[in-house]
Amino acid sequence: MPGSKEKACMNCRRITTGNECDNCGSTNLTTNYSGLIIIIDPEKSEIARELGLKKPGAYATKT
Ligand SMILES: [Zn+2]
Repeated sequence: MPGSKEKACMNCRRITTGNECDNCGSTNLTTNYSGLIIIIDPEKSEIARELGLKKPGAYATKT
């Protein structure tokens, strides 16, 4: 499905389907990522803290 491939931001790991990151605005995206985590409450999530994520959303664990 062209255009609907999910990409991960190389900068902040955010998963996006657009051509730029909707979190940090970076266009440095990759389809070559592994792992997917959903952050619901960054303040209470150990993983979010570890990865330095401050906004809820979907993130790649590895880019
Ligand atoms: Zn980003």
